[in-house]
Amino acid sequence: MRGLELFLSLMLAAHTACAGWLHEDADIMGTRITVELFHDDTAVARQGVDAVMAEMRRIDSDMSPWIETSELARLNRDAATRPVIVSDELFKLIRTSLHFSDLTHGAFDITFASVGFLYDYRKGVRPDDRQRQQATELINYHNLLLDEDSHSIAYGKPGVRIDLGGIAKGHAVDRCIALLQAIGIKQALVTAGGDSRMIGDRWGGRPWNIGVRDPRDEKKLVAVIPLENVAVSTSGDYQRYFEENGVRYHHIINPTSGDSARGMHSATIIGPDATTTDALSTSVFVLGVEQGLALVNRLPDIDAILVDAKGQLHYSDGLLPAKNPANNVKPPAPHPQP
Ligand code: ADP
Ligand code: MG
Repeated sequence: MRGLELFLSLMLAAHTACAGWLHEDADIMGTRITVELFHDDTAVARQGVDAVMAEMRRIDSDMSPWIETSELARLNRDAATRPVIVSDELFKLIRTSLHFSDLTHGAFDITFASVGFLYDYRKGVRPDDRQRQQATELINYHNLLLDEDSHSIAYGKPGVRIDLGGIAKGHAVDRCIALLQAIGIKQALVTAGGDSRMIGDRWGGRPWNIGVRDPRDEKKLVAVIPLENVAVSTSGDYQRYFEENGVRYHHIINPTSGDSARGMHSATIIGPDATTTDALSTSVFVLGVEQGLALVNRLPDIDAILVDAKGQLHYSDGLLPAKNPANNVKPPAPHPQP
């Protein structure tokens, strides 16, 4: 989420002068990775930053569908012919993905990739209607057969593919936060593209400020939220897309049509961990404003800020003091441009 990065980098300028605070960016997983953290001992802080970048690279090389040697690519190549034994980590993440498929009645479905691979947003390539309809028949998470005993996965039909693009960055952020906590770091922010998680407070005891960008103007923010000890993810129709005859084709796919979901411009989800917020931001984007908010309002500890297809903002009940007087989360006020 470019807007988030821009805003955070402005906020970061303030602490680079403070010993023990480190900030670093890198391009990994086809996105911008940012880590900012504090430890009294600068050597430990340095170790934390390096551990985050190494972990991001490791997860990319295991889970990218585009790296031929990745575990995920091997699964897509072989699992329609025979069950493939996978690592604990990949098995669990696929199992978690299926949990979100159940929770969202299939709005979140990693087998979207059975049609997703026919799009190339950079080159402006998309399937024609016939190709799209045929490939869409293969989208169904029930086509993934998991064997808990052997940790193997088989695909029920030839042509099925998976892609963890809607959940892997959140998972990576959670793994990195766990690594940081294990070496004693108590204040940190880790961001991978649109997925962030923060622990502790920021320099000077202030909360982290997360900006939600205007989906149609990368220089503007539509909201700024003070947060601590939570994760936040945004899915938008502006990250990877092309336009043809006034229609926007972007990277979030409605599993029932195999076409881009067009019910909103962006979905921001706040929750306890980044795997959850990543999966839910993609899901709520697909579900649209009404069903998306209904889902979020049913889930404990989850909140949402949505920008609908007309550019209007919508908040979940937990962010509205009128509906939730006990809540001390302030409604995010529109923010002047930084
Ligand atoms: P990003 O941060 O990469 O923009 P998002 O969290 O917004 O990611 O999710 C978009 C990604 O999720 C797509 O690039 C694709 O890999 C994957 N995806 C698209 N549609 C779906 C879907 N219906 N269910 C699960 N994953 C999806
Ligand atoms: Mg997501």
